[in-house]
Amino acid sequence: MYDLFAQPLTVIPGIGATLEKRLMSRGINCIGDFLLHLPKDYVDDRHVMPIASLQEGMDARINGRIVSKQARGFGRNRQVMIKLADETGFIALNFFHSGYMMTDARLTEGREISVRGSVESWKGYLQMNHPDWCVMEAYHPGYRPVYASLAGLGGKRISTMIKQVLALLPTTAASPLDARLASEFHLPDLRSALARLHGPEDADRDLLEKANVRLKSEEVIIYLHLMREKKVAADCPGLTLQREGLSEQLLNSLPFPLTEAQTTVWSDISQDLHSGKRMHRLLQGDVGAGKTWIAALAMAKAAGCGYQAALLAPTEVLANQHAETLAELFAPLGLEIKLLTGSTRARARREMLAELQSGELKLIVGTHALLTEDVHFKQLALALVDEQHRFGVRQRWALADKKREGHEAVHLLGMTATPIPRTLALALYGDMDLSIMRGMPPGRKPVETRVIASSKMQPLIGGMQRILDGDGRIYWIVPRIDEDEDGLSVDQRVELLKGYFPDANVIGLHGRMKSKDKHAALEAFTTGQCTILVSTTVVEVGVNVPEARLIVIEAAQAYGLAQLHQLRGRVGRSSDQGYCMLVAGPETSEGSMARLKQMVNTHDGLELAEADLAMRGGGDAVGTRQHGDAGFRLLNMSEDAGLIRQWFENLPEFTPSEDMQRFWRPFAESTD
Ligand code: ADP
Ligand code: MG
Repeated sequence: MYDLFAQPLTVIPGIGATLEKRLMSRGINCIGDFLLHLPKDYVDDRHVMPIASLQEGMDARINGRIVSKQARGFGRNRQVMIKLADETGFIALNFFHSGYMMTDARLTEGREISVRGSVESWKGYLQMNHPDWCVMEAYHPGYRPVYASLAGLGGKRISTMIKQVLALLPTTAASPLDARLASEFHLPDLRSALARLHGPEDADRDLLEKANVRLKSEEVIIYLHLMREKKVAADCPGLTLQREGLSEQLLNSLPFPLTEAQTTVWSDISQDLHSGKRMHRLLQGDVGAGKTWIAALAMAKAAGCGYQAALLAPTEVLANQHAETLAELFAPLGLEIKLLTGSTRARARREMLAELQSGELKLIVGTHALLTEDVHFKQLALALVDEQHRFGVRQRWALADKKREGHEAVHLLGMTATPIPRTLALALYGDMDLSIMRGMPPGRKPVETRVIASSKMQPLIGGMQRILDGDGRIYWIVPRIDEDEDGLSVDQRVELLKGYFPDANVIGLHGRMKSKDKHAALEAFTTGQCTILVSTTVVEVGVNVPEARLIVIEAAQAYGLAQLHQLRGRVGRSSDQGYCMLVAGPETSEGSMARLKQMVNTHDGLELAEADLAMRGGGDAVGTRQHGDAGFRLLNMSEDAGLIRQWFENLPEFTPSEDMQRFWRPFAESTD
């Protein structure tokens, strides 16, 4: 099976080099990857409705004859109106910006077509706007998967291509786990599971759920095996970092004393580092709990002992910020720290690499650019990984693997604000010890949180003005980079807000921008030259701008509570009152609304994570997310907690083959 999965995308009819490149840039590298682009929904398209029985709000399939076709308007704005009739009645179909339809021979009067769309009412008449249509012969009743578009490929084309890919897998293609999971757990084999999810014969949700569980089980089991291997490999002697002066000097020069929780964690870590055994510890602490100072202390300790330390961050934005914060903390100690990212100039990079190799440079912070093979250390004592849930297992260890031949193993300190319940953490990060840092630095007020409907956003403008008048700054989070009809893209929001706040110097920030521009945008927001920052969730991880007092999150229903909590953690980072507005889109269900309201009264990350688990945990067979957390391809930490735990406690004995590992692992990459 896995050798078949590895075939290049170009074996799919219709995919050439250009499209392949585009798909690859989205992490779809082979036909197996393409198959993991699961339907986002299914439509029951078996029944044709008589037009007379249609009612407003229905999603319906109708077949009929074209009675008339008219166009209104000119050029791009040309609107086409088709009147469609069956034996029971007639209905109007509107197509905007669709002048080309006037000359389409398949749409001449008297022709029969099949249409699917939602029924709307206008001045008392029923109509459909922009329904899907095809000639009558092309309509095949059935239960139909609906795909999210991908790299510019529309859902319909994806659907056709997926069918072609499935045809490339002979029925004999098998996964090494098939027999085991079938006999002991009554799960379908991998090939049938894929076939069912992509082309269900019926609406049987149980069977879909089973297929989904089968697919995810493959991923969990391989992951857990890897963790087990790592745990065994991680237990080994490590460098002993003795008492030294630098970390103590830093401790005394911090602007505020450590909180109790910070003190405890720092003592755990110091003990590990003294112990002579390698540390592999995960530091879990809520957003804003002050993990960076702990990282700084550990780094100072490594340098104080004459060794090196490196801090890995998932995004350039965050790496930049860490470099600045740490440089400030280290300057009085005479300690230098440098920044290495994908956009570091070749010359500066060469110099830095030489200094790391000679040991002249002790401390470095960077993105995954730190992980490339030509980065060598004289003697790395400590690897730190911030927001480690954003990295895959392999990357998490890659930095620590940069030890030189003959040296002791490198200590590893992971940090995360993702509050995951302990049992789940043990399964997911089974290769590490766990330190939990509870509480916040003193003087913080909980962020005042409100949920509002997107139709009621107008009053927000006044509130924003008051924040700006009080010298506060505002984050505005949108779900998308690309423009769409709903206006929820970065550029569209920047335009809109500029209109309301001409003096705020509104700036946009998103992951696809050049790193120089990203840095400039964040810099402008940090210094207050810009006071409203419109951004995608790239700011989610760790950015610290204490003057930010309000965060507006559009399409909030689309995020998990843990992620919303992280986003909310961007404000309330000083003694000023912080505010968070969760804007629920028009399609938000009552259940999602109730989920969002949890945010209003709950300010503890762990509690929210558990609520999320309880409310969304399990059962979501169909709403399969495309890519989950932590570099998982299908698994979603909150939805699949039960499944992860189940396999953790009952892991089948088997050794994942090379190609299985290769297939499930490449996504173990950071997101920037
Ligand atoms: P996170 O745990 O999310 O990484 P940070 O390390 O960014 O949090 O810390 C958030 C803010 O709290 C920073 O502005 C930092 O200077 C401040 N801070 C950290 N520790 C303390 C402390 N003990 N007392 C007061 N402020 C602190
Ligand atoms: Mg942080």
